[in-house]
Amino acid sequence: MIDERLIRADATKLDELHEIMQEQPHAELLCDIGMKEINIGHKAVEKICDAVKALTPGKKVLMVSGPVAIVDTEGRKIKERIKALLEQEYEVEWFVVTEPDGIVHCTPENAARIQEHFPGVDCVVGIGGGTICDLCKYATYTANHENPLPLVIVQTALSVNAFSDNSSVMLFSGVKRTVHSRYPAILIIDLDIVGAAPPEMNVSGYGDLIATWTAPVDWYLGNVLGMGKNFHTAPSDMIRTQCEELLENSSKLAAGDPKVIGDLANVLTLSGLSMGLADESSPASGSEHVMSHLIDMASKVRHTGICYHGTQVAVSGINSCIIWDYLLNEFDPKAVDLDKCYPTAEEMEPKVKAAFDWLDDTHAAANECWSDYQKKLAKWHANKEKFKAFLDNFDEFKATVAPWVKKPEYIADCMHKANAPCRYSVLNFPVDAKTATWAMNNCHLMRNRFSVIDLLFYTGVWNEDFVQKIIDRADSMDAGL
Ligand SMILES: [Zn+2]
Repeated sequence: MIDERLIRADATKLDELHEIMQEQPHAELLCDIGMKEINIGHKAVEKICDAVKALTPGKKVLMVSGPVAIVDTEGRKIKERIKALLEQEYEVEWFVVTEPDGIVHCTPENAARIQEHFPGVDCVVGIGGGTICDLCKYATYTANHENPLPLVIVQTALSVNAFSDNSSVMLFSGVKRTVHSRYPAILIIDLDIVGAAPPEMNVSGYGDLIATWTAPVDWYLGNVLGMGKNFHTAPSDMIRTQCEELLENSSKLAAGDPKVIGDLANVLTLSGLSMGLADESSPASGSEHVMSHLIDMASKVRHTGICYHGTQVAVSGINSCIIWDYLLNEFDPKAVDLDKCYPTAEEMEPKVKAAFDWLDDTHAAANECWSDYQKKLAKWHANKEKFKAFLDNFDEFKATVAPWVKKPEYIADCMHKANAPCRYSVLNFPVDAKTATWAMNNCHLMRNRFSVIDLLFYTGVWNEDFVQKIIDRADSMDAGL
């Protein structure tokens, strides 16, 4: 039985959450949530000075935002409003992160530009979406690991779950990597601000949560096979039921129902906390995210922008649901020839390099992917006994994970009701069939983290024909390419 208090977890009650986690079996696997406060509610931003005051007696605030104007439900420009509120008690410097093409990326270079404004500052207030949040977390953390500047984040859209975790997704040499950073000390989600965000942004947060039905099972699978660590059921138990309710309310979300937007704010924030509890993004980022990461990596060569993270993840999430449905209903462990499941590094290196070499002239992306992939390959070889035991006990594994997955048809149906894009070709920066197919075929070659796709690759199931079958099944749901 799942602890009832976990099922109804409330992101704004951090002390209570801490207590519940402490009481879970194997609580030693769960990390502390390093946040002081999460405020979700109407007019929450009006207490911005109190938030700063709770973190520092200092008087100088650095406000960091992107270049785009944002208004609340009453049409007020929120950045200017927050600046005015802060100026009632603080000296405020406002730094706007910009790039020549108008799209701000999560790069160490942008973080360094924020850091240039740190001297003399007592508190950083970041206002914006996932990119600004990740940049502020990374900039403050890398400037001083031990004692980073206090950080308040005002979240302007329910676009991703990453506001309430202690990592940042950064672009290094054009490759997306999730790196450890820090939590915002205080997170403010003003429902009058996120309620006025473009609907496609809030649908993006809903989309990020589609990973709830694939990432935790990838995480569990990796742990069973000795390829991951620290699996615990509590981080996902904390959000699964509320995610289920959100799926049931998909049409209401599309209609902008304020209650459902409030529910989305809570569960999305909990999803961020689930990654912090695990001290890795695995509870909310599995095979669906890695497919999406490859599409992002290709965007530069394709001279196109990066799609809303969650909407792209959700399209990939339908694919991952199809893959898991295959594993649980069609995969035959008895047909596996164990000795054929272990390609050598010499065999894999050219495959990994060929998959990513076209991304840049310097081979930087290919080298970065190979350096990460070879660790996974070595670990796979080292844990052969665990794989053998997995095949022998496959029914037991299936019984454990069955309640954690959903049928792809159901997910696609909910996404249609939510007005969430279900095809790569209709994302805000449309992804062509060739790029999407490349991303699906090669996503397992990108990073160290193990997923169901690695299992299918090593057992000889994963190839271009198999990917085509996924595409065809998705197409039957009016989804996929
Ligand atoms: Zn995500």
